[in-house]
Amino acid sequence: MMKSFTDYLWLNTKQRQEFINITPQVEEAVVKSGIKEGLCLVNAMHITSSVFINDDESGLHRDFSKWLEGLAPYDRDKYQHNLTGEDNADAHLKRTIMGREVVVAITKGKLDFGPWEQIFYGEFDGQRKKRVLVKIIGE
Ligand code: ZN
Repeated sequence: MMKSFTDYLWLNTKQRQEFINITPQVEEAVVKSGIKEGLCLVNAMHITSSVFINDDESGLHRDFSKWLEGLAPYDRDKYQHNLTGEDNADAHLKRTIMGREVVVAITKGKLDFGPWEQIFYGEFDGQRKKRVLVKIIGE
C-alpha cells in the first residue's frame, strides 16, 4: 500500500543570497513519514530560490556565488523585469540555473545519496519568509 507524506520547511535568510544545508530537515521528514522504500521530492516554492544537491564545502559555495554573479549580476537597471518596479531579475535567473527541485531515492528508510551529496536551499532574494515543499511517496 503506497503511503504519502507532506512537509513544509520555512526559511528566512539573513542575507539576500545564501546557501543553506537542509539535509537534516529532509532526513527528519523521511523518518516522520515512516516510508522505507520510495522517493523524496524537495522543491523551492518561490521563483527566486532553488533547491539543489552538491558538496557541503564553503569554497565551492563561494565559487557558485561568484559564477552566478558573473552570469546574472545584481543590477537595478540592467533587466527588463526590473522595469516592473522589482529589483530581483537576477534572482529569477539564478534560480533557473540552480534549479527548482531535487528527487532523492529512499532505500531502507534513508536518503540514498552518492558520496558527498547534500541538499541545499539556495536563496537569491531573501530576508523574507519562504517555503520548501518536501513530498515523500513509497511504502
Ligand atoms: Zn521578480
